[in-house]
Amino acid sequence: MSRLFPLPVLMYHDLSDGRDRVADEHRPYVLSVAAFREQMRVLAEAGLHGTRLDEILEPGSSGPVRDHPCVLTFDDGHASNCTLALPLLVEAGFRATFFVTTGWIGRAPYMSWGQIRALAAACMEIGSHSMTHRPPATLTSSELHDEMADSRKLLEDHLGRAVVTASSPTGFFNPRLAPVVRDIGYRALCVGRVALWTDPADRFGIPRLPVKRRTPPADFRRMVLGDRWVVTRLRGAQMVRNGLKMALGVDRYTRLRQGLLSFAGRRRR
Ligand SMILES: [Zn+2]
Repeated sequence: MSRLFPLPVLMYHDLSDGRDRVADEHRPYVLSVAAFREQMRVLAEAGLHGTRLDEILEPGSSGPVRDHPCVLTFDDGHASNCTLALPLLVEAGFRATFFVTTGWIGRAPYMSWGQIRALAAACMEIGSHSMTHRPPATLTSSELHDEMADSRKLLEDHLGRAVVTASSPTGFFNPRLAPVVRDIGYRALCVGRVALWTDPADRFGIPRLPVKRRTPPADFRRMVLGDRWVVTRLRGAQMVRNGLKMALGVDRYTRLRQGLLSFAGRRRR
């Protein structure tokens, strides 16, 4: 398995076909359908296969691990994961892991249980993205436990299959989340740290490469091919944001970010 590493693990959120109104503060995460289709084409052209996270953890669990995997993950559980991303994944012959915020299921604009079951039936992996999406940095150990244990149980009860992977919600990570998630019985945890996944033994702090609305096509191609310069540049930007988060705290940082993004949204309109 070590021959698979370093491994790109991509982090997506929602896709848009332009028909939905997107909140300004969420807009940086929303990709157009055309951009996503083009990225799937770039992966295929580069000889990379979109893969579920659990296929890497346990090779052979859902078919043979193909050469040159690129793990595809989606956070939050937006309805477009099913309506827009799934058909393109199936068309490309790719699989992916969908981390769902279970407290949002059935509430627009997020997926219904029927849509989540449709993803599972199409050979996609379903993982947990917590129950309520509260920033882990603001939660106690017992709250972290409930967020991750309750969401896992709910998913397993509805889907009738084991849920073994999770991702940390929001950009406010809590280092206590990793042992909590491991003790509950998960087998891996994805976090927001920007890097290639280099150490196969590091399963409870799996870094990811965020794919955003403004990710240039050339950068996308270079980062999935493991270009360390692009990854280092992305990580540098993240370190600046982390410094601001530390200095301002969750509430003030969130308000500052919302203010800046809604200003940008007003200028665009
Ligand atoms: Zn999220």
